[in-house]
Amino acid sequence: MTQRFPAPQAETLLRWYDRHARTLPWRVSPDDRARGVMPEPYRVWLSEIMLQQTTVAAVKAYFQAFTQKWPDVMSLAGADEDDVLKAWAGLGYYSRARNLKACADVVAGEHGGRFPETEEGLRALPGIGPYTAAAIAAIAFDRPASVVDGNVERVISRIHAIETPLPQAKPEIRERTAELTPQTRPGDFAQAMMDLGATLCSPRQPACALCPWTDACRARASGTAETFPRKAAKAAKPTRRGMAFVAVRDDGAVLLRQRPRKGLLGGMSEPPTSVWAPDAATDDLSLAPLQLNWRQCLAPVRHTFTHFHLEMTVWRAAAAADVAAPDGHWWSTPEALGGEALPTVMKKAVAAGLGKD
Ligand code: SF4
Repeated sequence: MTQRFPAPQAETLLRWYDRHARTLPWRVSPDDRARGVMPEPYRVWLSEIMLQQTTVAAVKAYFQAFTQKWPDVMSLAGADEDDVLKAWAGLGYYSRARNLKACADVVAGEHGGRFPETEEGLRALPGIGPYTAAAIAAIAFDRPASVVDGNVERVISRIHAIETPLPQAKPEIRERTAELTPQTRPGDFAQAMMDLGATLCSPRQPACALCPWTDACRARASGTAETFPRKAAKAAKPTRRGMAFVAVRDDGAVLLRQRPRKGLLGGMSEPPTSVWAPDAATDDLSLAPLQLNWRQCLAPVRHTFTHFHLEMTVWRAAAAADVAAPDGHWWSTPEALGGEALPTVMKKAVAAGLGKD
């Protein structure tokens, strides 16, 4: 006989959320929300942009630093883009930082500092895709938008034991989420779904015994929860190679330059690097920015981007105090280095060049 499952109910999840909501710096607690406190759209937007591809744990400190420095969208719009990139350094996916600034400019310049309240209006802003628009509309403005992130995909695919692999399953998951989304408290519901996925319905060993939807969950009943969501096999990522040149002056200053505004790590700082390609040379010293006595560091720096692995051979050289920086380059003193807009991969290269790897 086929087992029958009750439909999951939004109210059941909201009751669980009222007791177990995570405390997050950008969140208004369910108690405060019940008292009529609304989240600030600026803080919701900022947190959602930061959380794209990044964990809550990594985002918290950046969120605090950003909101201290730029407490509202008008102050962020008035900021220098290079300062925003510096504050973002280490969070990764740097086009997000440039879009953050562009979005603040549009909200300040064209919307009088107020974020649009609809998904459609939000999607028209730089850097806001369908997911982020739905999340802001729901959380900041209590619109019944269906908000589907990786956590929600996991919960929904398990509840309904959806056999279609991702990404093909996305429309079905979105539909199931939309069916479930209540007209009352849709913002809390969206956050409750995220919390359920982030805490109990974890990728490995979900805590089904504590889950408010355990009776409704097909994957739990068949003991197959960990196998959902199903995923299509991924193509292997190619490896690109390249060189980084870390010149260190007598006083400890490191030679840096800015990457082109457009493209990967656009506008961020770096020690001079070569082009990255699968068959790129790793010992062509004619590419070095200065004629110095270059020595190869033992291990290459490895970093994984969305579409490829990078293996960068680091070359280091000492430079005399009077060596001038080539055009477009500058010497960054030990005191200034920590505040440079160096993405993680470039921090690794500098550390290798300074012998700190
Ligand atoms: S019962 Fe288990 S697998 Fe199903 S939604 Fe809850 S935690 Fe996830």
